[in-house]
Amino acid sequence: MTAIHWFRRDLRLADNPALLAAAADGRDVVPLYVLDDALLARSGPPRRAYLLRSLRALDDATGGRLVVRRGAPTEVLPEVARQVAADEVHVASSYEPAGRRRDEQVRTALEAAGAALVETGSPYAVAPGRLRTGGGTPFQVFTPFRTAWLAHGWRAPATGPAPRWAQGVRSDGLPDEPALDDLDLPDAGEAAARERWAAMLDDGLAGYADDRNRPDLHATSRLSPALKWGEIHPRTLLADLARSRSDGAAAFRSELAWREFHADVLFHHPTASWQSLREVAPDDSWVTAEREAAALEVWAAGRTGYPFVDAGMRQLRAEGWMHGRLRMVTASFLIKDLHVAWQRGAAHFMRWLVDGDVPQNQLNWQWVAGTGRDAAPYFRVFNPVTQGRTLDPDGTYVRRWVPELRGIPGAAVHEPWKLPRAAAPDYPERVVDHAEERKVALDAHARRSR
Ligand SMILES: Cc1cc2nc3c(=O)[nH]c(=O)nc-3n(C[C@H](O)[C@H](O)[C@H](O)COP(=O)(O)OP(=O)(O)OC[C@H]3O[C@@H](n4cnc5c(N)ncnc54)[C@H](O)[C@@H]3O)c2cc1C
Repeated sequence: MTAIHWFRRDLRLADNPALLAAAADGRDVVPLYVLDDALLARSGPPRRAYLLRSLRALDDATGGRLVVRRGAPTEVLPEVARQVAADEVHVASSYEPAGRRRDEQVRTALEAAGAALVETGSPYAVAPGRLRTGGGTPFQVFTPFRTAWLAHGWRAPATGPAPRWAQGVRSDGLPDEPALDDLDLPDAGEAAARERWAAMLDDGLAGYADDRNRPDLHATSRLSPALKWGEIHPRTLLADLARSRSDGAAAFRSELAWREFHADVLFHHPTASWQSLREVAPDDSWVTAEREAAALEVWAAGRTGYPFVDAGMRQLRAEGWMHGRLRMVTASFLIKDLHVAWQRGAAHFMRWLVDGDVPQNQLNWQWVAGTGRDAAPYFRVFNPVTQGRTLDPDGTYVRRWVPELRGIPGAAVHEPWKLPRAAAPDYPERVVDHAEERKVALDAHARRSR
């Protein structure tokens, strides 16, 4: 007997309930990944390259048995099921809108071929949609969601015998990586994720509660790409966190709860991936198309003249990853200082982030924009100078990413315009005045609220 395990966002062998379900009753398992060009086209080179590296690691972990097929899942899955005489295709459920649509189409195509799509587990500790308020409605606000999420709890990590891989199934192999120029991506794959988590438990968790907003300190786990691709499951992390009563463990659990909250909000409001959940500024408050293109260009290149913003944007271009606080500061700058709608910035992030993930990216952008369900109020405008001075007090982070400013010592690096031009002759002038643009944004909001 043979079953297919269709890997999607669960690129790991450990703690994988869907894989165990495929291998149950002594079945041989075909470990399958479908490279769907339509989906790949939407990812930028960093995320495509990271995915290919993660698949290579998965192939190694299966002893070279990973079967890669190129094509549309609705065609590939019935075809492979027929070829290997499998009547079950096992998956972890998808919850984001495009994944749900795809899975319904695949289910129908498989049924026509005499096979079933069997769903077990999800990329979350608690499946999106499961938790409800006392009144039976979806949660709108994070804190009560987290309380209900903690009270609900989650299963222990799944364990079972190693699967027996089916032999001799043709694979198209993995394509070459896209050109990455100078990009330095984080290590991909399950083993790298486990190592990163072990290091976090050993010496990261203790300082996490205090230092997680400090980009100069490397104080966060950098597990977001691993969680995005399912190289490690949040259940595994939560089981380890349960052994600690520290503030760091509680703070980390809370961040994982945000991840689950966003997935839950998107499950109930599928249009939130592109539409504001509420309008906070009138339509005419955004820049014209022509000025928008220029604004996006300087922002994306890290040449706004605000060092903290520019450092974040340059980290993104160099690593395909950006510290979480910088994601907030750079997003706020695009929306409230440059008056560009959040969807444009979210699209840029999705193109460049190796952890680019529809629920997390789009709902976090809505949080910053003030348009989300439980969002920062619109009048919370991040000040790029005070954020920099507080969270990068010695300017180390800025100097790491903005070479033109390396000659300026200490916190003065956050306001180069106060120094003689010769201190940083190659660094751009500020494109806007933050105080003025903040006022423009707040006025627009006030007009909308009237
Ligand atoms: C504008 C914007 C866009 C974002 N886009 C993404 C994205 O595409 N993919 C993504 O995974 N995260 C996104 N985030 C959330 C967050 O910034 C990253 O998950 C986090 O910075 C990743 O670094 P880390 O793994 O070191 O985090 P840690 O501080 O170590 O946190 C541990 C884990 O908790 C989760 N987490 C932490 N903060 C958040 C948060 N605000 N929302 C949801 N989950 C969180 C992540 O899974 C993270 O890996 C975005 C945030 C903002 C403000």
